[in-house]
Amino acid sequence: MNKIDKDIVDYFENIKMYRRHIHANPEVGPEQPDTVKYVKEQFLNLEDIVITHKEEKAGLVIDILCASNGPTIAFRADMDALNLSETKSPNHLANKEKFCSLFENKMHACGHDLHTAILISFGKIIYNYRNKLRGKIRLLFQPGEEGYAGAKQMVEAKYLKEVQNVFALHCWPNLEVGQIGLKKGAFFASVDHFLVKVSGIGGHGASPEKASDQILAVSSMISNLQSILSRKISGLDQRVLSIGYINAGNKKSKGVLPSSAEFGGTFRTFDTNVQKKIKEELEIICKNTAKMIHNDCKVDIEYTNSYPQTINDNTSVLKLEEIFSDFIDDENLFLNYIPTLGAEDFSFMLKEVPGALFLIGTNSTNHNINKSVFLHNPTFDPDEKSMLFGIQSFKSIALSLLNNKII
Ligand SMILES: [Zn+2]
Repeated sequence: MNKIDKDIVDYFENIKMYRRHIHANPEVGPEQPDTVKYVKEQFLNLEDIVITHKEEKAGLVIDILCASNGPTIAFRADMDALNLSETKSPNHLANKEKFCSLFENKMHACGHDLHTAILISFGKIIYNYRNKLRGKIRLLFQPGEEGYAGAKQMVEAKYLKEVQNVFALHCWPNLEVGQIGLKKGAFFASVDHFLVKVSGIGGHGASPEKASDQILAVSSMISNLQSILSRKISGLDQRVLSIGYINAGNKKSKGVLPSSAEFGGTFRTFDTNVQKKIKEELEIICKNTAKMIHNDCKVDIEYTNSYPQTINDNTSVLKLEEIFSDFIDDENLFLNYIPTLGAEDFSFMLKEVPGALFLIGTNSTNHNINKSVFLHNPTFDPDEKSMLFGIQSFKSIALSLLNNKII
């Protein structure tokens, strides 16, 4: 039987209240000022609490000062939502219980509302233990995980300085409530986004020999790029390259060969050498393909929003295995869980300080896991009891690491 401490179970109504408030008020983008304000309000006027809120893009830091000197252990929650409109289905919990998003095209569809509620609740609960612990518990409420590298902003604001270990969790619909997934080393992939712009001589569709045909160049490049994965990278290396954007010409002028065309995509890997190789080959293929089509076809490639691989520290993972096995049965604790080609900007924090990201199951035990909706979906409907396990995980880590033991 999985065990959750009584003080966490007793706090469940508050946990749900935090989650539901944040869920109803999603904020998208690099800054979440209203969420920060709400989180801050939960910790005002308490002794032994230090609140740091310098600039919105670097989020909010709450320090809980314990009884004696010791290490600082940090816990991170991302707070941002996505540009999605929440389902109107009456079966969706947020509609049934009337806490659905108050805004069209904004929704907490990645579970960051749960993450934030877990971190607030953990802070409120562990606060009561501060006199029995040493050191400092740092709560990192991070903005802009979804493409804005908010974690990097927190690192640059020096919030990880003097932190000994940092931990984070992510909701995971492929696991059931009460299950935890964990892995040593690379757990989430790196993500690189690229935009390829091709420019040259436009012309009349009847005389392609007088133009440099940017559309033919772009379409050839897109086909050729897949050969990187199949011919240039070992089959043993996990990776993906996808094109998600293409634009050229004017649909009202189908007889015109445009002077420019562009496309963009993403590639993801678990290995920095593979990542480097894909980037190099992408440039070679695009430039050579352009040349093959026409000498006047010019290529310009932009890279943006790169997140590195999320690499869990092996020592920290071993410690988590020991801590989690105190309240999770063996069959529910997955110690070498499947890595994901999704990306996480917590990677920036793990480059700075050793620690680990782990996954908590959000799928209700009475649902078919194969049919459960994954993240970034307008019908994502996590079981709120999953938050109990998130809070228990953080609480057990804090009690273990700040209780006169050194990791
Ligand atoms: Zn997420």
